Amino acid sequence: MPDIEVTAQTQGMARVIVVGAGVVGLSCAVRLLEQGHRVDVVARDLPLETTSAVAAALWYPYRAYPIDRVNAWSAATYRELARLSTDQRTGVTMRRGTEVHRTRTADPWWSDSVPALTRVTTMPAPYLDGWSFEAPVVEMSLYLRWLVIQVEGHGRTLTRMALNALPDGPGVEVVVDASGLGARLLAKDGSLTPVRGQVVYVDQVGLDRWWLDESGPTYVVPRSEDIVVGGSDDEGEWDRRPDSARAERILSRASELVPAIGRARVRGHKVGLRPARPSVRLELEHRAATRIVHCYGHGGAGVTLSWGCADEVAALVGT
Ligand SMILES: Cc1cc2nc3c(=O)[nH]c(=O)nc-3n(C[C@H](O)[C@H](O)[C@H](O)COP(=O)(O)OP(=O)(O)OC[C@H]3O[C@@H](n4cnc5c(N)ncnc54)[C@H](O)[C@@H]3O)c2cc1C
Repeated sequence: MPDIEVTAQTQGMARVIVVGAGVVGLSCAVRLLEQGHRVDVVARDLPLETTSAVAAALWYPYRAYPIDRVNAWSAATYRELARLSTDQRTGVTMRRGTEVHRTRTADPWWSDSVPALTRVTTMPAPYLDGWSFEAPVVEMSLYLRWLVIQVEGHGRTLTRMALNALPDGPGVEVVVDASGLGARLLAKDGSLTPVRGQVVYVDQVGLDRWWLDESGPTYVVPRSEDIVVGGSDDEGEWDRRPDSARAERILSRASELVPAIGRARVRGHKVGLRPARPSVRLELEHRAATRIVHCYGHGGAGVTLSWGCADEVAALVGT
């Protein structure tokens, strides 16, 4: 009688290397592990050093394309993050908040992704219109650690390794390329560009709702112990040093939106480079004996798209 474990491993279960330990790579690794694949993660930057660790991280489909796929991935991720929010170890919380607009707006294209969207008709000047809804807010330092625990809980590894090329050749069955901006090098993809984003962390002053003005972008995202205040989106900028003049402008815009921010003590500053692309690349490439699933270019929405994309990556790898 063959051993049951051995039988499972020889029936379609793949040996997978995930390149990248941001939210995209780790979510893909977890899904693939849940399907029974043998998955290890390699990355130049460990989870808390990635762009993902800088994300605000409010569920909101921002600067990611194409809209139809983004909508489906966002909806799937919303459902999964809502499910994870019932376990406080994940760092995911469902919070109500308001997106504000200075002009009258049509229903957002992603409105079907959230269970209940309410138009806010009485907005303080200069805002004329707004949408109120409940969305997942993810404390990335907790959440990325939780994802790593899921990987390690399956007995698999996360290793720091800077690659010059994606692994391929004999013995490398499947590679998931979740290298974010690193795919400029690893996939020779010149269509990826950085969109620099800066945030300021301030003391938690009793805020429980998030606020977003996409036009800035200006956002105020409360977490358990602090508030993330953003933001900026500077196309093509690579400089990861926080800039004090930008920080002042961010705080000034955010204080107009939420006056309590003006009185909150500043705790720190961070910058991340969003991996922007005309469209997210999620597709299978065959290179000799190796199947490569590319999954990068999530722009300003890597957290928002993470589980929807991980599901699709898992489907491409197969069961
Ligand atoms: C200020 C700011 C606010 C944001 N807010 C939100 C938000 O509210 N909601 C939201 O959904 N998204 C938000 N984002 C966007 C989100 O952070 C990104 O879309 C997401 O982090 C992309 O994840 P990723 O895993 O693809 O890339 P990353 O987190 O950049 O991870 C890439 C991984 O690949 C590895 N890698 C790269 N090159 C190599 C190599 N040569 N060898 C080995 N490993 C390599 C890296 O080391 C890293 O581990 C925000 C971003 C910023 C900057």
